[in-house]
Amino acid sequence: MSVTTEPTVIVGGGFLGLFAAMHLCHQHHPAPIILIDQAERFVFKPLLYELLSGELSEQQVWPKYDDLLNCDEITFIHDRVDQVDLQQQQLRLASGLQYTYGHLVLGVGSTMHDFGIPGVKDYGFPFRTGENARRLAQHLRQCLQRASQTTDATERQALLTVAIVGAGPAGVEMAATLGDLLPQWARKFEGIRSDLRVVVVNRSQDILKGDLNDGLRDTAKQALRERLVPVEIMAGAAATEISPTELTYTRAEQSHTLPTQTVIWTTGNRVNPLLSSLDVPPDSRDRGGRLRILPTLQLPDYPTVFAGGDCAVLDSPQPATAQVAYQQGEAIATNVNAQVQGQPLQPAQVTLRGTLMKLGLADGAANLFNRVVITGRQGHLLRQATYLQLLPNPVHNFKASLSWLTDELLQRHTVSSRPARQRSTPPVTRWVASTLLGLGVATGGLVLWRNASPDHFNTTWEGTGLPTLLNRGDRPHEQDD
Ligand SMILES: Cc1cc2nc3c(=O)[nH]c(=O)nc-3n(C[C@H](O)[C@H](O)[C@H](O)COP(=O)(O)OP(=O)(O)OC[C@H]3O[C@@H](n4cnc5c(N)ncnc54)[C@H](O)[C@@H]3O)c2cc1C
Repeated sequence: MSVTTEPTVIVGGGFLGLFAAMHLCHQHHPAPIILIDQAERFVFKPLLYELLSGELSEQQVWPKYDDLLNCDEITFIHDRVDQVDLQQQQLRLASGLQYTYGHLVLGVGSTMHDFGIPGVKDYGFPFRTGENARRLAQHLRQCLQRASQTTDATERQALLTVAIVGAGPAGVEMAATLGDLLPQWARKFEGIRSDLRVVVVNRSQDILKGDLNDGLRDTAKQALRERLVPVEIMAGAAATEISPTELTYTRAEQSHTLPTQTVIWTTGNRVNPLLSSLDVPPDSRDRGGRLRILPTLQLPDYPTVFAGGDCAVLDSPQPATAQVAYQQGEAIATNVNAQVQGQPLQPAQVTLRGTLMKLGLADGAANLFNRVVITGRQGHLLRQATYLQLLPNPVHNFKASLSWLTDELLQRHTVSSRPARQRSTPPVTRWVASTLLGLGVATGGLVLWRNASPDHFNTTWEGTGLPTLLNRGDRPHEQDD
């Protein structure tokens, strides 16, 4: 058994790092746990659209780490890690602080890639953080307001046109959200609603190409057509420049411009610069610079250093998704503890159970086990219930889910989109969906109760086998995306 007093340091509090920290705490890790993130708040990225639209609050989707972490053994440090010396097992932070670690977990995710296209950094709107969502919401509201006042027809059209570059899941979800949201916001202003445009500019010929969500392609296409403002897909179009008032792109070898004051950049991931500076041999990286990791999620040359999520890659690669990252986070916690106790490490088991997409304000799709697709309002409810169930802190989880369920039941979000339940879901599927949803909400409610008040829950259900059943359901890889 290797006795360690040096702290276990986790760099990056995203899905990988935050879940690793919380599982280490839960598993009574013997060393101090230090979680370092350059941001003050955790971003629940799959629900970032709900922050943009106001369907969920900052407290729910973008909580402060200090409010989220209820474990005395975890110290959160709001700082940026600028250097990692893997030989000396030391870190240097932007503030000048230095740490020596016993174990290190790297979960720094990826950064935006602009492919060197002029104007992306200066005029494009990224969508990865709470700040991004807040800034985009402010900008869009200002565009609507200015459009209602200007008498210049070209300016008006540029203000009322939103271009989204990329038709991967983020581009599709953003387009579907804005297709419902913009006309709602535009109601306040006279005479602009009919001129709103949402245009997706996509290099390849089809949406969701090569993505985990490709099983939802037809559902997504239909949903995009059915938004309050139908989304236009410009296929085979490559963005070449962004200026404050237009997007330039090539299509069929011709250059075109689209007058727009809003270009949302959803495409392209690049390796985090911290990883580029690490002392690992070139063959321990993939072509994009991500760290190659062993099935136990260790770096091949540094057995006490673990990595996962979007910044690392296995020999049999997993998609860069939250559902992979949080499962790997838990597996890392288990392996770090095993290493500390001198026990053998286990390969991480990550299970992909399906995918969930937001396809409008009250519209969504859930692809369960690649067998059942649930669409429309049921898909929306299933997606949101699944994600709220995943919010990291039990107390936070409990509060977030309760307020959301109350909102749903009381119909506080009055959404006037054409819900897809009237679209294509046949009655039997609707019934299955409702039953699944009922079961999901019931199970979710029990889990929330157990998480918020375990002793009370266990006493109440003692003898029924329910606590054991739910605990089993809690073990790794049991939750969906
Ligand atoms: C808009 C959007 C929607 C998405 N929707 C889904 C979805 O529906 N389903 C799904 O499964 N996945 C979704 N994803 C992908 C998913 O969010 C990522 O795969 C997941 O967040 C990866 O987790 P991670 O922990 O590896 O990295 P991240 O969650 O990106 O976390 C990395 C953390 O590291 C911190 N960091 C970076 N560098 C440093 C440094 N030098 N020092 C200190 N801290 C640092 C960052 O601040 C960040 O908090 C979505 C992504 C986006 C952008």
